[in-house]
Amino acid sequence: MICVSIGRGRHRHVIAEHRHLAEQGIGLVELRLDSIQGSVQVKRLLQDRPCPVIVTCRRAVDGGRWEKSEEERLSILRTAIVEGADYVDLEDDVASQVRRYGRAKRIISHHDFHKTPSDLAALHKRLAAMDADVVKIATMANHPIDSLRMLDLVRAGKLPTVGICMGDIGVPTRVLSGRVGAPFTYATFHDDRVLAPGQIGWRQMRDVYRYDSITAKTAIYGVVADPVAHSLSPAVHNAALAAEGIDAVYLPFRVPAEQIGEFLSHAGRWPLAGLSVTIPHKEAVLASAAAQDELVTAIGAANTLTFAPAGIRASNSDATAAVESLEAVIREQDSAREGLGVRTALVLGAGGAARAVAFGLRRHGVDVTIASRTAARSRKVAAEVGCKAVDWAARYRLPYDCLVNATPIGMHPNVDETPFDRDHLRPYMVVFDTVYNPENTLLVKEGRAVGCRIVTGVDMFVRQAAIQFRIWHDREPPLQVMREALKRATASAKQPV
Ligand code: NAP
Repeated sequence: MICVSIGRGRHRHVIAEHRHLAEQGIGLVELRLDSIQGSVQVKRLLQDRPCPVIVTCRRAVDGGRWEKSEEERLSILRTAIVEGADYVDLEDDVASQVRRYGRAKRIISHHDFHKTPSDLAALHKRLAAMDADVVKIATMANHPIDSLRMLDLVRAGKLPTVGICMGDIGVPTRVLSGRVGAPFTYATFHDDRVLAPGQIGWRQMRDVYRYDSITAKTAIYGVVADPVAHSLSPAVHNAALAAEGIDAVYLPFRVPAEQIGEFLSHAGRWPLAGLSVTIPHKEAVLASAAAQDELVTAIGAANTLTFAPAGIRASNSDATAAVESLEAVIREQDSAREGLGVRTALVLGAGGAARAVAFGLRRHGVDVTIASRTAARSRKVAAEVGCKAVDWAARYRLPYDCLVNATPIGMHPNVDETPFDRDHLRPYMVVFDTVYNPENTLLVKEGRAVGCRIVTGVDMFVRQAAIQFRIWHDREPPLQVMREALKRATASAKQPV
């Protein structure tokens, strides 16, 4: 069950959000009374309530907004019990001062905004002994293993236990808590109005992650990156899983660079079935792979991991996706045409995307030139891929059939920037921008205006995700569903990854 936290300053707004949530089928809400401005009218909020409530009134030390006296706070909690609240949340240091009465269930909670304590079992035992109906532990995850320890704790809890790791690293615990037996998880009313670090909006929890359909059998996939919070991959993959009715969920795993090896060595504890890999892990994950496909060996980087009894298999879908995207645009114009239809290409940038695209094009016999701001980087990639490198300033010197932007120039929020001056675009060129947020970058718009054929980053992104889907689920991906999910996600994303 999803419990949605309501933290509004006015009683009428709390009541309106509560009613709206109940109408949307939400079965439990947390009333964060510490957000109420002025005197708190507990009775008004509880009478005629449209669905069950947890009453909570948090001090600043526990992440709340309560600034008045402790005496008044405890009085509000006692009043909530007398008025028949379904649950009352009592922090462990005050639980003994508020007695059980009537039918109100006691949630005994503990918060740690700095760390996840090493002995979670002892903490749980102490809270359970305080006449608890539910134990709630919310701690900061500083390492992905903290999240695993928290999930193990919930799984082992004899009393109903809600165990959550806060922060970006802890997000998977919020989505997977039901899978290990927690009675509910917390979500916010609005995606961007969070009451604790790492919280997710209830619509995302219900509609993207499909929290209520996750069971112990649900397979776990995800994207591993740092940062990961704004990754669009969860939106795309979860939409595809839902459309195909596959019992799996796809999560954002934030793993700092120095923790990737340890994270992968614990994959079986989640257990992980597959991962997309992005910055900064594309090269480092190879050290943990038992096998890798030919493209990974050639490119020196992986963006896909598959977990099997024999070990981790690394693959790379970026180069194939780039080539497929280009092929599709060429075929649209000339269905009889074989191959890529371009002889020369200029790739701007010398990072992971540039290397994958340059490699894919080279394999199809295209004469590739790389131009990058940092000349040493483009020379290195050119030597590895087997192509030419020119200085950034020399990118206009020769004409090319195909121009590929593999830099972040033009990406949100710098949408008025382009890596290639319009005056140098020619109608015979194919303009391929790997940036996918926005889809219509300035380069794409100017290329279209000049009459160029266009390949967008959205096309490449969906195709690389589709290849991963095929690898993991052994069936054809719902391309249109994935494309629409990406467009919806980019429309609402503020800062893409
Ligand atoms: P990366 O490894 O960090 O490489 C970025 C490259 O862009 C570097 O060569 C960097 O040059 C260059 N660059 C950055 N800012 C620049 C500027 N202002 N002027 C000139 N050059 C600049 O990143 P990546 O993973 O390759 O990603 C690059 C782009 O590809 C991103 O926009 C990403 O969204 C896109 N991408 C798209 C897909 C897709 O499926 N559509 C997949 C992967 C990546 P320096 O070395 O000088 O910093």
